[in-house]
Amino acid sequence: MSFEKLGLIKPLLRAVEELGYENPTTIQTRAIPLVLAKSDIFATAQTGTGKTAAFALPILQKLRNAESSEDRAIKAVILSPTRELSIQIYEDIKNYSKHMHVQCEILVGGKDLENQQRALKKGTDIIIATPGRFLEHVEKGLNISGVEMFVLDEADRMLDMGFAKDIRKVHPMLPKRHQTLLFAATYSDKVRKLSKLVLTKPAFIETSKKNSTVDAINQVAYMVDTDKKAALLAYLIGSRNFPQVLVFTRTKVSADALILELQKDGLKCGILHGDKTIANRMKTLTQFKAGEIRVLIATDIASRGLDIEELPYVINYELPSVPEDYVHRVGRTGRAGRHGEAISLLDIYEKFDIRDIERVIGMKIPQEVVEGFEPDPTIRRKDQDELKLKNEHKKPEVKFQRKNPKRHSSNARPKQESKTPTKSFIKPVTKKKRKTTKRDAK
Ligand code: AMP
Repeated sequence: MSFEKLGLIKPLLRAVEELGYENPTTIQTRAIPLVLAKSDIFATAQTGTGKTAAFALPILQKLRNAESSEDRAIKAVILSPTRELSIQIYEDIKNYSKHMHVQCEILVGGKDLENQQRALKKGTDIIIATPGRFLEHVEKGLNISGVEMFVLDEADRMLDMGFAKDIRKVHPMLPKRHQTLLFAATYSDKVRKLSKLVLTKPAFIETSKKNSTVDAINQVAYMVDTDKKAALLAYLIGSRNFPQVLVFTRTKVSADALILELQKDGLKCGILHGDKTIANRMKTLTQFKAGEIRVLIATDIASRGLDIEELPYVINYELPSVPEDYVHRVGRTGRAGRHGEAISLLDIYEKFDIRDIERVIGMKIPQEVVEGFEPDPTIRRKDQDELKLKNEHKKPEVKFQRKNPKRHSSNARPKQESKTPTKSFIKPVTKKKRKTTKRDAK
């Protein structure tokens, strides 16, 4: 899915492109068409899922007619629990609307009310506010009779912070016919009660349940060259004093190679993969649970259903080939609300694969570099190098036919563990096959 396909107008498409957004996140894909179709929305989505753009982009699109109007009336009100979140929303909206002429004001506590009133006199299309300060303005005569869109962002947090009363007071002052979008990270009774009051036939969007990575898990990705991954892993375990860690590899071959590397560093390791007998796997698991093994290396299939309590660290030595497996892997830590940390070691090939994972989990994973393990900037993706060479030298095109199309994807990259070279399943097509003669055979 692309932003174009969601039906967004050009000024918004330009803005998201300039921000580097390539594709909409799950919440954006689901919410944008519904908001454009004037539906009320009840969405459970956490910060980091791209929820701000999910409501801000369609709101801006619906305001495009306001661009030409001289006497601006407030058309959209966005309430958020804190000053900080309001400022963040304000800045996001400024970025999204930079190719449009939309006015936006921010009304938060701790700032001079009269100054805010003066700014409002110039006219604004959108108001972003904390509930208490917004109510103060309304009670002092702010005209909200033209409001068409009302957003309650992080509604659960607003209720926890005691803003229920303010919201309940504001709501009846809004025009009868308006669209309401409610976003909450959790689906509590309080939120449900509020939703009954403010929403009319809402569409439900749940993005944080199935594929979400638990809140308590701190996720980070370290950029590193392929051949330095094992050293970085050993360094992280040692320098950060990880008592126990579960490490995922993509294949049995790389699990076997990794255990040899880590053992050289004196780390007590165990391995769980499909080639090990069940008895062997059970023994390894028991040793790990008893603390006799510090590093447990596992492939995705072998790790399914693993229930190890209080596992604070999960490391993705290689990203999984199926993005959804990331959720299963990372779900091994941060259980029952405990703190957990999920670290992914990303080489230049995986830098691109992680985007698929981010799409599935609906959030960005911060990418960092560990001092002393900075990736070599001269190393580039092989397929990009090939493309560059091809363009430079204009080599005659050779048509390739895949022997086994299932093993090939558009995002294909050389499998590090595969012993057979990539060429083995790609075969050039020659138009006429030369017949073998007896003489040739000789
Ligand atoms: P939010 O959940 O709205 O706080 O957004 C979290 C972060 O994701 C912000 O830094 C946004 O700028 C960024 N973001 C939002 N949508 C996208 C997208 N489609 N692609 C990449 N980044 C995004």
